[in-house]
Amino acid sequence: MYRKNAWKNYDEAERARLDAFAADYRRFLDGAKTEREAAEAAEAIAVAAGFRDLDALIGSGAALKPGDRVYRKWMNKCFLAFVIGAESLEKGMRILGAHIDSPRLDVKQNPVFEDEGFAYLDTHYYGGIRKYQWLALPLALHGVIVKKDGGVVKLAVGEAEDDPVFCISDLLPHLSQEQQGKTVAKFVDGEALNLLIGSAPAAKDGSAEDDEEKKPVKAAALAILKERYGVEEEDFISAELEIVPAGRARDMGFDRSMILGYGHDDRVCAYPSLRAVADFEGTPRATLCAVLTDKEEIGSEGATGMNSSYFENTVAELAALLGLPGSVGVRRALQNSRMLSSDVSAGFDPAFAGVFEKKNAAMLNLGVCFNKYTGSRGKSGSSDANAEYVAAVRRIMDDAGVAWQTSELGKVDAGGGGTIAWLCARYAMNVIDCGVPVLSMHAPWEVISKADLWEAYKAYAAFLEKA
Ligand code: MN
Ligand code: MN
Repeated sequence: MYRKNAWKNYDEAERARLDAFAADYRRFLDGAKTEREAAEAAEAIAVAAGFRDLDALIGSGAALKPGDRVYRKWMNKCFLAFVIGAESLEKGMRILGAHIDSPRLDVKQNPVFEDEGFAYLDTHYYGGIRKYQWLALPLALHGVIVKKDGGVVKLAVGEAEDDPVFCISDLLPHLSQEQQGKTVAKFVDGEALNLLIGSAPAAKDGSAEDDEEKKPVKAAALAILKERYGVEEEDFISAELEIVPAGRARDMGFDRSMILGYGHDDRVCAYPSLRAVADFEGTPRATLCAVLTDKEEIGSEGATGMNSSYFENTVAELAALLGLPGSVGVRRALQNSRMLSSDVSAGFDPAFAGVFEKKNAAMLNLGVCFNKYTGSRGKSGSSDANAEYVAAVRRIMDDAGVAWQTSELGKVDAGGGGTIAWLCARYAMNVIDCGVPVLSMHAPWEVISKADLWEAYKAYAAFLEKA
């Protein structure tokens, strides 16, 4: 089946809009390396676009009406934005969903230790990473430390020009004869991913030479944390600190057609989803929704994962503010909704062609990618979209001149994976997976095409208007 390269469709004016959108996205990426930062950046976009905080309206006696724009930030890690439609919420919403958590290394609750004169933070990786990729590259520390009195210390160390960075050391090739014989899975032990944070003891402390006992390098590192952030070692217990690649997303290629960045999975879908809803002007026919969720990379569990009730609860709050009757109104609103559940697709990579079935692979530059189903082996764990719904989506995309393609995640028996689609399908709504192709998915630095990002935005806007 022939698909035209999306770049061939652009005249000068569209290319300029594409470039501006890609630059906005790059800036978003740089300020949104964690789910908390992404939720905060999303809130700033929504507020600037005239959305009001739903939590301020709940219980205030206020009512919502068509054209109103509201948002909700859930536990600082999820974000929802709605534009109220002209027709009843019971008729269903047009929903764009994506996730804002990304694979990374989390700092353990009791992380600080010293070994042979080096101070480290012990880590526990989050999501599917290839551990060897995280060695010997500059890393930054992002997150929050919540003190016992509720005070929150926000950290983002390793991003500013003169910030220090951190790293996990690797073995020199000269001495890796034994290690080279190991499989990739055994190459680096998860427990060996220790972040190097210091090497100098405090100067002139007047102590005797009993350093081994006192762990002076660890003490010096903790003293800096105490002085700079007012935190104690015990405060790590109530911290969420994430280790991510340090540095900014960059244009890639002489032609600047791609972006190399951390966390395209899944901010490359989350950002255009939110923008499509925020950029919508006026009153839509159906209520519009963007939901940016957390914990997708570890199975969508927990109070901020798509498997929790926060989404349904928020729709129930909307229903109440719109004067809808009881639980049947909420059930109808969910059941009659149509959704694009967006997550990145594995972009076909000529370097690893063997794991793909080429005619059903996601190709960079062919536009936004629809997956009728995902899953593993015999479609296990998949939400398989109905043919009737796929046909409706095809028509909308073609009518709007969107460059789009379809794909499966690799060869039938090569592996597999899942998204949040099946969790939304529990409400009996029509939902299909779609997203942007990525090279080096889950690596510290992933690659996307600006054309695919742009086509995703166009696809989302068309869906909100026409679905
Ligand atoms: Mn994903
Ligand atoms: Mn992922």
